[in-house]
Amino acid sequence: MPTSDVPVLRATALTKRYRLGDLTIEALKGVDLTVEAGEFLAVMGPSGSGKSTLLHLLGLLDLPDAGGVEVAGEATAEMDDDALTALRRTKLGFLFQSFELIPNLTARENILLPAEIAGRGGPAADRLRELAAQLAIVDRLGHRPRQLSGGQRQRVALARALINDPLVVLADEPTGNLDTHTGSEVLDLLRNGVDTFWWTVVMVTHDPNAAMHADRIVFLRDGQISGETGTRMSNARDIIERLVGV
Ligand code: ADP
Ligand code: MG
Repeated sequence: MPTSDVPVLRATALTKRYRLGDLTIEALKGVDLTVEAGEFLAVMGPSGSGKSTLLHLLGLLDLPDAGGVEVAGEATAEMDDDALTALRRTKLGFLFQSFELIPNLTARENILLPAEIAGRGGPAADRLRELAAQLAIVDRLGHRPRQLSGGQRQRVALARALINDPLVVLADEPTGNLDTHTGSEVLDLLRNGVDTFWWTVVMVTHDPNAAMHADRIVFLRDGQISGETGTRMSNARDIIERLVGV
């Protein structure tokens, strides 16, 4: 069994190329990154710097051309598709900019879906009650996505990401489709979840205010890590400004 001092994710020399006809795009050029249990990590960088590619590789949604990802100390490089899928379904949670809820399912059904797919329908009922209370969606569980506000949709999507009690939630611009106020409510929920319930979150964002909710920010530029800062450092804003020019 992995112990808590094993990082939940460890990426080593991650390299990813996309081929478009004759053109090869080097999206990641050897990224090393460790995500510790209980940490809230933000990944910042300009558009095209490789943030989504990195999140996809960390989430075992795509395979690197070189380098590898360990989940809770377990190397994934040699795993077949079934093993990767099982690991993804049980250990990883995903949150997307566009929520990605299934329109004709209720909030409850959307949240429970990953539990059913993983064959964990039973314990998920208790977990659902707990998450619905934590995320203030108890009275919205019977609603379909179109009957919910953007912030409520993202809270439902967050409950879905957490229903299997994953090691880490991977979030790609989770506030990108929300207004500032609603976005900051979602960020506060993530922050509170990390502080209170020991969630682990990796969040891609280009918004410095969103990134400042994290504990630590790593910066990507042209497929490489260009720097890093803790958010509690007094010069964190200066470092963000210097490294992403905002
Ligand atoms: P970011 O999320 O930081 O905007 P991405 O990871 O989406 O960056 O993209 C990194 C680079 O890889 C960009 O140059 C992008 O155009 C390219 N890229 C991303 N996905 C694909 C793909 N499926 N096919 C070809 N090129 C891609
Ligand atoms: Mg992206």
